[in-house]
Amino acid sequence: MNTSLHTILGIESSCDETAAAIVREDGEILANIVWSQMAQHAPYGGVVPEIASRAHVAMMDKVIAQACEQANMSLQQVGAIAATTGPGLIGGLMVGLMTGKALASVLQKPFVAVNHLEGHALTVRLTNKVEFPYLLLLVSGGHCQVLLTRGVGDYIRFGGTMDDAVGEAFDKTAKLMGLPYPGGPAIEKRAREGDPRRFKLPLSMVGAEHGDFSFSGLKTAVLRLVDSHRPLDEKTTADICASFQYTVGEILADRMMHAFKRCEAMGLKNLPLVVAGGVAANQFLRGRLAQVAKDFGAELVAPPIALCTDNAAMIAWAGMERWRLNGWGQCDVLDTEPRARWPLAA
Ligand code: AMP
Ligand code: MG
Repeated sequence: MNTSLHTILGIESSCDETAAAIVREDGEILANIVWSQMAQHAPYGGVVPEIASRAHVAMMDKVIAQACEQANMSLQQVGAIAATTGPGLIGGLMVGLMTGKALASVLQKPFVAVNHLEGHALTVRLTNKVEFPYLLLLVSGGHCQVLLTRGVGDYIRFGGTMDDAVGEAFDKTAKLMGLPYPGGPAIEKRAREGDPRRFKLPLSMVGAEHGDFSFSGLKTAVLRLVDSHRPLDEKTTADICASFQYTVGEILADRMMHAFKRCEAMGLKNLPLVVAGGVAANQFLRGRLAQVAKDFGAELVAPPIALCTDNAAMIAWAGMERWRLNGWGQCDVLDTEPRARWPLAA
């Protein structure tokens, strides 16, 4: 192993994944352990904060030990410690952040407090070596926003959701049709057999002057549709899934067109469009977004699916980028507090 390169341990616990990873300065992922709590939350159709916190406490040390084992390194050999500090569920954040700060203190290593959203935002620089600036669509279970990414810690927010996140809309829609949690993969699977044009659903915010999104009207429309077709047969379920997914695609496409135009007005043409977050796993939506990017002479870039959903490699990498900018010195003080809310840009 090349020991002259810097390495960093990343810790993630902001939602329902307990994760640890070790990443090297040149972008080599030496270890990437994700322990998903999905099974614990599935009976409730969504993440239960108290269950999440307790599961993080139970698993955190094991996940870190596994990461060290996979990388064939001891904690002493790691150069710095990065931990997700927000935004997210406060109980979970406390578990990962306290662990990270305690390790940094005991091992006398630099500590980096990482914004979870910045982890998602910078992953493509780890996996695809994308240069700044780029346009970012972040779509996950808890987040939905469009950002112009100009550099580490340098973002302009073009818009975000006014109500539900996209993943949340998938999860809630699936739940009201009686489909399993998480809803995204379940809906995508059924949508493949369905007719996307059978039901016309509201294209909320399409054509709006601002850059924001809204998905709650769409969810309510699906609820009415489901109620008027009970008991749902396989065909109708598939058609509702396809119509819902198609509508989400049209909304995302329109909002990204708005963002591309705004970039062009700033003199920024052909910026790569980066999509990240759990919803980026959806092949139909990826296809629709690739089309929009092409219309603006741009390319769609998405990290591998395993690095789109919550993981600690992205936290380690965002920590690495900040640590490097700090001249490989101390980054954050050890009394840094967790932040349930922590916007990337004003
Ligand atoms: P994350 O919040 O990044 O951990 O991602 C989880 C969210 O992504 C959940 O809301 C899932 O329903 C959603 N998701 C996962 N796979 C898909 C998919 N294939 N299509 C749409 N949403 C998805
Ligand atoms: Mg998650």
